[in-house]
Amino acid sequence: MAWDGRVRNNRGMSMTTSTPSVVPAAPATLVREPVRIEIPSNVGSTEKTFEVRKIGFDSPTFDVMGGCSRHEIRIHEHGFVALVDAMPRLVPQGQTADAAIVQAARVSYGQGTKKVNEDRGLIRYLLRHRHTTPLEMLEFKFHVSMPIFIARQWIRHRTASVNEYSARYSIVPDRFYKPSIDEVRKQSSSNRQGGEERFTSDAAAAPNEARTAEEFLRYLDDAEKMYERYDALTKQGVSRELARIALPVSVYTEWYWKCDLHNILRFLSLRMDSHAQQEIRVYAEAMYALLQPIVPLTMEAFRDYELQSVRLTRLEIEALRNKSQTIAGDNKREQSEWEAKRGLMGL
Ligand SMILES: Cc1cc2nc3c(=O)[nH]c(=O)nc-3n(C[C@H](O)[C@H](O)[C@H](O)COP(=O)(O)OP(=O)(O)OC[C@H]3O[C@@H](n4cnc5c(N)ncnc54)[C@H](O)[C@@H]3O)c2cc1C
Repeated sequence: MAWDGRVRNNRGMSMTTSTPSVVPAAPATLVREPVRIEIPSNVGSTEKTFEVRKIGFDSPTFDVMGGCSRHEIRIHEHGFVALVDAMPRLVPQGQTADAAIVQAARVSYGQGTKKVNEDRGLIRYLLRHRHTTPLEMLEFKFHVSMPIFIARQWIRHRTASVNEYSARYSIVPDRFYKPSIDEVRKQSSSNRQGGEERFTSDAAAAPNEARTAEEFLRYLDDAEKMYERYDALTKQGVSRELARIALPVSVYTEWYWKCDLHNILRFLSLRMDSHAQQEIRVYAEAMYALLQPIVPLTMEAFRDYELQSVRLTRLEIEALRNKSQTIAGDNKREQSEWEAKRGLMGL
């Protein structure tokens, strides 16, 4: 079961993410404010006065999250991915959060021009040429609920800051991932890490396949039954940190996950890819859907230059030049990757 495609606000209502709530502009004029503050050091503290220069925006701003505390997409029966904060949160009206990338890039390129189509060109240039640090100026914080086997893949992305639910401190909630019978996948014969083709759940058409798919679901039910014993043993005084160790990896965990936009795009590139496991792909797709209205220019460039682009190796360029259907060498895997790329390019 994929996510239902609806974005909910913190009251659980469906909503659109593009409705801006306008925040009146703070005075754009300079306000000089003397602040007297105690500065501590390892030998005591001294009082100092600083002049804080406060400058508002030139024009009214809007909250990129439309005044909401979360934009949430439900995934499967128990999962969700929710955007809970963004930097920048306030953006001048008429712009998008993409503006923060342009602002950072212009520190290196000078003021330059400021029209939106020029911002788009600059962002596209940055992504094409892998000038990545301006994208690191934006950060997004997500609250995610996912099965532990997905969390194990997700945590490999090391550049995020993570705070996870502690099953040492708290009781693990009774929530398990279980696909429907139509979603039970067969082991792929071409990709050892993957499974794409579904078992036929129609018992009349393919009785063995239907039986196997049903047996798989019973196996998951048996694993879920461990929860009753977990619950009973914690009530009898077994520590939560030990009682949890026999729970299956289909049990849900949750965390806050904060990352900069450059590394989020890297995460999306790897986890929206067809080689990623389907169960993590739906989370990555939901994150894409949450970010797209907030940084539309970046997501457009990401789609054009990364997600739906094809990277060619030297051997593949040679094959293209020679109008050859095969690449040099006898690596079967590389050959089949070349065939897949040829298919994508309509060759
Ligand atoms: C389809 C798929 C299958 C996979 N299969 C396996 C598997 O079988 N076994 C397995 O163990 N893993 C597997 N992985 C995980 C994979 O190897 C990466 O660990 C994971 O995708 C995170 O990628 P990353 O390191 O680029 O991301 P991040 O950790 O988010 O890092 C982003 C970038 O930051 C930089 N960076 C981060 N940390 C460092 C560092 N310490 N030193 C230098 N640069 C750093 C690198 O440029 C890196 O690309 C799989 C991933 C995918 C998508």
